[in-house]
Amino acid sequence: MMESQQLHVVFVPFPTPGHMLPMIDTARLFAKHGVNVTIITTHSNASTFQKSIDSDFNSGYSIKTQLIQFPSAQVGLPDGVENIKDGTSREILGKISRGIWMLQNPIEILFKDLQPDCIVTDMMHAWTVEAAAKLGIPRIHYYSSSYFSNCAYHFIMKYRPHDGLVSDTQKFTIPGFPHSIEMTRLQIPDWLREKSAATAYFEPIYQSEKRSYGTLYNSFHELESDYEKLNRSTLGIKSWSVGPVSSWVNKDDEKKANRGHMEEHGKEAEWLNWLNSKENESVLYVSFGSLTRLAHAQLVEIAHGLENSGRNFIWVVRKNDRDEGENSFLQDFEQRMKESKKGYIIWNWAPQLLILDHPATGGIVTHCGWNSILESLNAGLPMIAWPMFADQFYNEKLLVDVLKIGVPVGAKENKLWNSVSVEAVMKREEIVKAVDILMGSGQESIEMRMRAKKLGDAAKRTIEEGGHSYNTLIQLIDELKSLKKSKALDVKVN
Ligand code: UDP
Repeated sequence: MMESQQLHVVFVPFPTPGHMLPMIDTARLFAKHGVNVTIITTHSNASTFQKSIDSDFNSGYSIKTQLIQFPSAQVGLPDGVENIKDGTSREILGKISRGIWMLQNPIEILFKDLQPDCIVTDMMHAWTVEAAAKLGIPRIHYYSSSYFSNCAYHFIMKYRPHDGLVSDTQKFTIPGFPHSIEMTRLQIPDWLREKSAATAYFEPIYQSEKRSYGTLYNSFHELESDYEKLNRSTLGIKSWSVGPVSSWVNKDDEKKANRGHMEEHGKEAEWLNWLNSKENESVLYVSFGSLTRLAHAQLVEIAHGLENSGRNFIWVVRKNDRDEGENSFLQDFEQRMKESKKGYIIWNWAPQLLILDHPATGGIVTHCGWNSILESLNAGLPMIAWPMFADQFYNEKLLVDVLKIGVPVGAKENKLWNSVSVEAVMKREEIVKAVDILMGSGQESIEMRMRAKKLGDAAKRTIEEGGHSYNTLIQLIDELKSLKKSKALDVKVN
C-alpha cells in the first residue's frame, strides 16, 4: 500500500494514568488494524509506554511516538514532573496543569506538519475541536469512563436535580435514566454542585463532545447497552464502544507487566510467590488507583479493617510525601502481616493486570476508576465500591444498582484526590462489613460472583473476531478510510 493511502491517525493523550493507559492501548489497536499511528506526548510520559510501542513497531506495525518538550522551566517544575499523578500538592498540580495547557501551541504546529486524516484526543483537550476544524479533519473525542457516567454528567448539568434540596445529604434521582438511581449533592463533583472557577473549566470539556465527529469509549455494548443507547439518543452524536482495550492489546504476561510501568519491580517474584501460596479466590486486592492519596487516619482504619476481616489481601499503598513520619505505623503493620502471612503491601505501583488475573485473587476494593472496573470485570471479579472523586460515584451506582456486582462501602463525599480528608474517614467496621459480604459464602456473594463471571466472559468475547467491540473498531476504521477517500476525490474534482 502506498504510504499516502494509509490512514494516518494522531492520538493526543492527557497525562494521567487513567486517561493515558487506555488511549495508548487504543492507539496500538488502531496500528494493529493497519492504521498509521502517531502518539503525541512529552518525554517523561512517553517513557512509561515506549517499550510497548517499540515492540509493536518491531513487529511491523506503523506506530510511533512524537515527542514534545514539557515547559518545565517556564512553569517552575523539575524535569520529569509532567503527569497529573505527580501533583502531590495543589501548587505542584497547578504548575503541571499550566504546563499541559502550554502544550497547545506545539501540538497544533505538529498537527499542521503531520497533516493527519483524523485526530483522537482526550476529552480534556477540548481545544482540539477548533484545531481539527481548521485542518478540515474529524476530531474524535476520547472519553475514558462509562456511558453511564457521561449520561449522568450531562443530565445533571442540564436538569440540575440537586438544586433546591434541603441538605447536601438529601437524595435526588437522576432524571431520564432507565434505572432509578439515587445520589446526594455531596456525591457529585463540587464543580457541578455549584458554579465555580472549576465549572468554567469542566463544562466546555463536556460540551466539546457535541462539537466532535464522535466519541470513542473504552466500554462494550454488552456491558451498558441501555446507557450507550441513551447517550446516542440524547446527545445525538456518534459513539463507538471498542473496549475493553487493555485485555485486547496486552495479551501476554510481559505486555501486562510492562503496561504503565514506571519503575522496575525488583520484588515482582515476591508478590507472585505470595499469591501463588494462596488458595484460589481467597485474596482481596485493594487499590485506589493512580491518584488518590489517603489521610493517615484513613490508612490506619483500612489496615485494621483488613486485618480484622481475617481475609488474605494485597494492598497498594501510595507513599504519602506529606506524612513520611507517620509511615512507621504502616511499616509495623507490614511487618505484622508478613509474619501472619495474611497481607502483602505493594508500595506505590502494582502490576494490576497480573494480580487481577491471578487465580488466587477473589475480589477487589476499588475507588471505581473506570479502568480498574473494566480490568476487574474482565477477570470476572466482584468489587467493593469505594468511590473518591470525579466520575467514580456514578460508576459505583452502575456497579451496585445496575450490574449488581458491587458492594458499596458507603462513601459519602466526592472530594478532589489530593485534598486529603480527615473528617470523612471510613471506619474499620464498615470496611469489615463490606469485605464479609464480598468474600463470604452467602447467597449475595455467590450471585454477584456469578454475574461478574458472566460479564467477564462477555468482555472476552466482544474483542474476539466477530465480537461487538471487534466489529465496531473495524467499522470505525473503514468509516475513516472512506472519509479520507471522499476528501481526496473532492480535492481532485475541485
Ligand atoms: N494502575 C496500575 N497499578 C497501580 C495503580 C494503577 O497498574 O498501582 C493502573 C490500573 O490498572 C488502571 C489505571 O492505572 O489501568 C488507573 O486507572 P483508573 O481509571 O482505575 O483510576 P485513576 O487512577 O484514573 O483514578
